[in-house]
Amino acid sequence: MATEVSRPRVLVLGGGISGLTAVWALTGGETPDDTLEVCLIEAAPTFGGKIAATVIDGRSVDLGPDGFLARRPEAVALAKHLGLTEQLRVPGTSGAGIFARGKIRQMPAKLNLGIPTEWRALAKSRVLGPWALLRAGIDIVAPRHDLRGKLGDRAIGPLIERKLGRRVVETLVDPMIGGIHAGRVADMSAAATFPPLLTAAGTSGSLMHALRTSVPPSPADGEPVAPVFNSLEGSVTSLIDRLVAVGQERGAELLTSTEALHLRHDDAGWEITTSEGILRADGIVLAVPTGPAAELVRSLDEEMADLLATIDYASVGLVTFVLDEGVLPEGLFGTGMLVPSIARRSDGSAFLTTAVTYLTTKWPHLQRDGSVLVRVSTGRIDDVRFSDLDDEALIAQLTGELEELFGVAIHPRATTVVRWMDGLPQYRVNHQLRVAGIESAADRLPNLVVAGAAYHGVGIPACIGAAASAADLLRSKLLGD
Ligand SMILES: Cc1cc2nc3c(=O)[nH]c(=O)nc-3n(C[C@H](O)[C@H](O)[C@H](O)COP(=O)(O)OP(=O)(O)OC[C@H]3O[C@@H](n4cnc5c(N)ncnc54)[C@H](O)[C@@H]3O)c2cc1C
Repeated sequence: MATEVSRPRVLVLGGGISGLTAVWALTGGETPDDTLEVCLIEAAPTFGGKIAATVIDGRSVDLGPDGFLARRPEAVALAKHLGLTEQLRVPGTSGAGIFARGKIRQMPAKLNLGIPTEWRALAKSRVLGPWALLRAGIDIVAPRHDLRGKLGDRAIGPLIERKLGRRVVETLVDPMIGGIHAGRVADMSAAATFPPLLTAAGTSGSLMHALRTSVPPSPADGEPVAPVFNSLEGSVTSLIDRLVAVGQERGAELLTSTEALHLRHDDAGWEITTSEGILRADGIVLAVPTGPAAELVRSLDEEMADLLATIDYASVGLVTFVLDEGVLPEGLFGTGMLVPSIARRSDGSAFLTTAVTYLTTKWPHLQRDGSVLVRVSTGRIDDVRFSDLDDEALIAQLTGELEELFGVAIHPRATTVVRWMDGLPQYRVNHQLRVAGIESAADRLPNLVVAGAAYHGVGIPACIGAAASAADLLRSKLLGD
């Protein structure tokens, strides 16, 4: 009689893109194998975490990320492996506008992640007033941030302000780079979010010149470009649905509405108390945000818990408006517009709006006759005014702001509000040191790895890459290969 050899069992905590990618990698990735027994638990009733969608006006519309970088390989490659090649979509246009000096203007050409690399292009855009433009022009002679050799980590904002002036930071860099994390460049790690800036800031002379030569600038209008972003027909949740289906086909057990409450390790391995009962495992992938992760490891390693708790999160609100086709003015620029925090409404108050995405212009697969979709973003790490408003009041406020930004009357046909409270991790200065500390503490625990947006990049491709690496590390710990 054959005896069944038990396989090492891994429990993945968290069913967002990171946890589900870990399941994919633990079950062999591109070459499926069943060396490990894999189970995933997700606290919410559905998988996907920040990746979610709903049907708006007859089309499936993303409520979180609406696309992913195509210039990083991980997400596109995973989508293709999962059989989603035919569903990959490219944006219908490129470029964007910015609300500057009282109106929507086209973003300057030759920006690198919001940082100007050519003074003439900056001048031509008229996003800055004459004094701010002159200030940016002394870039070549303005002192560097630090003359003591290779820079360690620095905050992005001050590095640029020193060379190009405060207005460049407030008008372009903070809305663009800060906006990606709903953070502030005043305290955002250059090493973790835009390392070429550190290199450029460490050279003498013009920062714009150094950035221009270290990173290829974005092409001018009219030049052919490889798409920067991809999305998926049927929304980014297709990626989640396929990961769940493939995981299940490979024999992984994937459970929703099951919250991890407590972790304990003994001679027999891990014991996980969940809202649905006790589970046991030989290895753990901790793919939940740092708040719950800190609480789960606190009784095991206080130092790791404290380090996890230092990574804080910004909350954002997104309101998708269905508008009559043709209601917005002609000649809007690109896929959307940013609203810098320094912009003021006609009554002197600050906008709640941080960005407006022209969803149906950006993603032609969402287009339907007669209506357009516009998504308004609100909320930053230091601005949670939206959370004081109920849905009705938030919609009224943002409708008024749209009217002011576009100079037209707005009568929404329908609206959908989603709030991502504690949705985006902040990569503050010395983020990488914090992550190294967390990972080295995790390494002290038996067969436990961390994965998720809080560590090596918030974007979907970065989450996929980091989760696959974490899963491979755990696999080699458990199997000794
Ligand atoms: C509004 C918004 C827009 C974005 N736009 C983009 C974009 O356009 N492009 C892009 O690439 N990225 C974008 N991002 C970033 C990206 O979506 C996220 O960083 C990524 O989806 C995070 O995945 P994750 O699996 O690491 O974490 P999450 O998605 O947060 O998943 C973690 C999961 O853990 C679960 N969990 C928590 N506690 C427990 C527990 N105790 N037990 C079990 N489960 C638990 C949660 O319910 C959640 O499902 C955006 C993010 C937001 C919020």
